[in-house]
Amino acid sequence: MAGGTRSQDLDFRYRPETDQSFENALRKARRRADVVGEEVTFVANLNNNVTTACNTGCLFCNFKDPAEAFRSDLDGTHGGFTKTPAESRRIVRDAVSRGIYEVCSVSGLHPGFALDAEHHEILAGYEQAHSSANYRPPARYDTDPGTYTEQIDAMSVGDVHVHSMTPEEAAHARRGTDWSYTDVYGTLQDAGLDSVPGTAAEILVDEVRDVICPAKIDSAGWIAAMEGASKAGLDTTATIMYGHVENARHRVMHLEEVRDLQDRTSAITEFVPLSFVHENTPLYERGLVTGGASTDEDELMIAVSRLFLDNIDNIQSSWVKYGDSQGLKMLSCGANDFMGTICSEEITKRAGGTSGEYRSVEEFVEMIGAIGRIPTERSTDYRQRRRIDPGDTTHGPRLGPKADGTPIRASQPARTAND
Ligand code: SF4
Repeated sequence: MAGGTRSQDLDFRYRPETDQSFENALRKARRRADVVGEEVTFVANLNNNVTTACNTGCLFCNFKDPAEAFRSDLDGTHGGFTKTPAESRRIVRDAVSRGIYEVCSVSGLHPGFALDAEHHEILAGYEQAHSSANYRPPARYDTDPGTYTEQIDAMSVGDVHVHSMTPEEAAHARRGTDWSYTDVYGTLQDAGLDSVPGTAAEILVDEVRDVICPAKIDSAGWIAAMEGASKAGLDTTATIMYGHVENARHRVMHLEEVRDLQDRTSAITEFVPLSFVHENTPLYERGLVTGGASTDEDELMIAVSRLFLDNIDNIQSSWVKYGDSQGLKMLSCGANDFMGTICSEEITKRAGGTSGEYRSVEEFVEMIGAIGRIPTERSTDYRQRRRIDPGDTTHGPRLGPKADGTPIRASQPARTAND
């Protein structure tokens, strides 16, 4: 996409003293309405995280547990979990029967994970040579997570949309080989993968990644994985996790990487700003940060994303990160998507998030209607949409393979509550 008028039209410098102006507020509202209209979308989905076992040690993350603690030959204890492919299938099958459209799966980098049997054979050679390939045979652990292809196949129940395998997971699924990302994603697509979450992006500037996630792939690796997914024919999303050690310049550099990637691939269906939840993270506990982003910064992030990313239509407001009330406000700052029903959420909850794990279709309709916008159930790729009229008495999803308008859960559970 041509970018000739961008710098003439917009000034992207961080200027909080002028950003609150009436003129800028109007500009933000107009851009969102011009691009996507008055619909606020959400998807009926389930989060199914497969394992918390991970040795990567990202300092912003409290989702993981040291993988050694999962070994059957050691005495370690942990409060996490690993699901077998059979367990994943049972959980997803139940959610599909309740009406979900999508299963979203993001997991720790379990050392026993491999792409498939061939990959296990290759990695076994590394283990015997005492290489640092972050691999141990799954038999060494209490629970065998299966291979990535087995997990994707297990979650691919009926026609449910499988949204999984972040760039970091794809890197783990090709470690120790020279396989291309396109081939790895092609294999996963054959197993049932439908689209790829662009998490693990954090901030796509290596001087920031070197501080918060030094063992992860670098910015170029993340971009290469996303391009590979796109070449395999998969839709992707993109994220930014902000509000930790980075500065405004880093955020703009990140947005520019994402915008350029979209110019090359046209595969990104939505952009998701993720405000860093700091409470239980090593970054906070070690004194490297004293808190997360301010509310003003959160609103600015959404607004600038809407203006800067002129080639991505959908900007998401995450109720898991922002909560209901601020999440709704973000819909007037440039966002047009309000995430999904989720049904289960471990990543933010473990980092100290308190916004809960489930929103019903009824709650989405009520909240979105209350701000004068049009509640709209969507597919993962936004190509299917179902506007929900104010008089519609349907309280459940209708787009999933078995959705018939029945609520996903019979009654609202108590609300209990970073990648
Ligand atoms: S962010 Fe992901 S890769 Fe990093 S420690 Fe947490 S689970 Fe592991």
